[in-house]
Amino acid sequence: QPAPWAAVLRDEEVLREAAAVAVDAALLEGVLMRTEGFPNASDVVNYAPFTLLPSVVPSALFEQAYAVQQDFNLLVDAISQNKEFLEQTLASTVKVDDFTAQLFRIHMQVLEEGLAQSVFLGINRSDYMFDCGVNGIPALKQIEINTIAASFGGLTSRTVAVHGRVLKVLGKFEEASRLLPNNPSKGLALGIAKAWELYGSPSAVVMFLVEEVQRNIFDQRCIENELWNRNIRVIRKRFRDVFEKGSLDDARRLYIDGQEVAVVYYREGYVPTNYDQQNWEARLLLERSRAVKCPDIATQLAGTKKVQQELSRPGILEMLLPGRAEAVARIRATFAGLYSLDVGEEGDRVVAEAIADPERFVLKPQREGGGNNLYGEELRQALEKIRDSPERTAYILMDKIKPQPAINYLLRAHSPLQASECISELGIFGVYVRRGKEMVMNKAAGHLLRTKAIEHADGGVAAGVAVLDTPYLV
Ligand code: ADP
Ligand code: MG
Repeated sequence: QPAPWAAVLRDEEVLREAAAVAVDAALLEGVLMRTEGFPNASDVVNYAPFTLLPSVVPSALFEQAYAVQQDFNLLVDAISQNKEFLEQTLASTVKVDDFTAQLFRIHMQVLEEGLAQSVFLGINRSDYMFDCGVNGIPALKQIEINTIAASFGGLTSRTVAVHGRVLKVLGKFEEASRLLPNNPSKGLALGIAKAWELYGSPSAVVMFLVEEVQRNIFDQRCIENELWNRNIRVIRKRFRDVFEKGSLDDARRLYIDGQEVAVVYYREGYVPTNYDQQNWEARLLLERSRAVKCPDIATQLAGTKKVQQELSRPGILEMLLPGRAEAVARIRATFAGLYSLDVGEEGDRVVAEAIADPERFVLKPQREGGGNNLYGEELRQALEKIRDSPERTAYILMDKIKPQPAINYLLRAHSPLQASECISELGIFGVYVRRGKEMVMNKAAGHLLRTKAIEHADGGVAAGVAVLDTPYLV
């Protein structure tokens, strides 16, 4: 279905004027990022890249994505508590993937010692694309679920006003009024605040664990502000700070600089380059502590691509969510084809299929953050190299989703205004809090639409490929 402003896309002068308004509106609303040149300074900043126009999203699929989010929250939480499932599922992966192996070692070590943590907080984002399929009717297909450091819940709440302004400049007042309000950072902060409250020490702080390079700080500040507004103190620390100044007392309460920490919110720690030996030690200290980790290491493991692939096997969802047939059906409806490359006949067969027809698949290693997947000819070459080696178990194969492209303009600092054929990825933020066995919060907290030019197979906003967008429901 074409957008109601499709005719405008041909009028270059109008578009130029709208783009100038859009950029100023983005700066005014706080759709901000630090610059590549000065990633840790806020004295000169720029706008985060975004689309000139909202993108059309089928409302039925949008609603479907919201409706399944609480189910995904329950599922991730169930996986994180299932030691046997994680152990079996990741057994082949940890033999060949050092990063997953190191996370898994900490997971086992913490379980052996016995968990000091009793309040659990999950913040995740389930990402989808709209697959055209053979019959031309779009279907919601999950790309992945991010269980650690899922970002842009802050900045995305500010794109609605920007796109609303652009539509008005184009004379589309009625359409502007139909853009949905969206504020994930508030929902995520409510989850953090609940966990902080249940931790039960009013003088304790919330610690954002942040990367050395902090270009996306304003996105995090949105959540931080919501916490300060609720009179909760927030500190920002790096692994390095934890290594140097962190300690546990006899009850394994976590202290840093003499301050007790109630909640650790990770915006770091999801890729191998986040770690050196000291950072791994800091991670272990945090995981052993009583503080609420968002996520704990088991929940991070629940978000691996290998776990995602295993969930698509018959019977696994039923085993993890017993007595919840409807939730299982809603979750399964979003799954694309996923295939294990474990050594054996099944793996051999799918490897042969993918080599014969690489355009049908995406090859994914156990990595986050975009830019790691292989497609097309690269996929074929990689598979030919590793087809007879256990190395192949570091990857999974997934059916390639093929969305219908649409024309949009990607606004990026220092880039010329030009039309691109684009595809979008919809993310729904989920938040939940559990105390012992009792779920005390389970919500969908808002959405994120990211759009990129079709010539890029892979990559998110932080990777410089996708840009922020706002859904226009039809
Ligand atoms: P990461 O953890 O690196 O974000 P993703 O699974 O989200 O890994 O893949 C990164 C990007 O690759 C996605 O944002 C999407 O653009 C593209 N992608 C991933 N899986 C598929 C797929 N099955 N079909 C089409 N594109 C995909
Ligand atoms: Mg992703």
